[in-house]
Amino acid sequence: MTRIKRLETIARHHGFTDFKWIDPKAIIVSQWVRMKCEYGCPNYGRIASCPPNTPTVEECRRFFAEYHTGMVFHFQQVIKDTRKRRAWSTKVNVGLSKVERDLFLAGYPKAFMFFQGACRLCAECVAARAECKKPELSRPTPEAMAVDVFATVRQLGYPIEVLTDRSDQMNRYAFLMVE
Ligand code: SF4
Repeated sequence: MTRIKRLETIARHHGFTDFKWIDPKAIIVSQWVRMKCEYGCPNYGRIASCPPNTPTVEECRRFFAEYHTGMVFHFQQVIKDTRKRRAWSTKVNVGLSKVERDLFLAGYPKAFMFFQGACRLCAECVAARAECKKPELSRPTPEAMAVDVFATVRQLGYPIEVLTDRSDQMNRYAFLMVE
């Protein structure tokens, strides 16, 4: 089995079938994304895998530059109810964590997953990374790594729009870096 086929098989095994390959050089990291975290996002300083618990924008850039292979996973949903949306997101993120773990165990030590939504694996989160209750599972989102998800996934032909209503269709994206 080729390396690509092997990686895709592991992703599909966990039920993730809507994905595209991306050259990490095409991942756009921008300072404005971090500004949006700092000024406007209610998760800032409240989630142990969100800024300021993530690397600086420059460190994020250096991180992505260390990879030659990436995958983008697409999730399309309409879930108006906040509680149901969070439950769905948590279930997806747990599955994404399993993909990363399986890849690691399959001989890809650099495998690193970025969740499609803020980590809510615990009922109550903590403000500091060092206090995270499930450090082996929790991962940042691409946005928390200053990735301009809008510009990046549009290059792949994936849909993404600013949502103006809770009943709008969501297009969320998880990123996997792997060698
Ligand atoms: S695993 Fe729990 S404590 Fe850690 S970031 Fe996620 S929700 Fe917060």
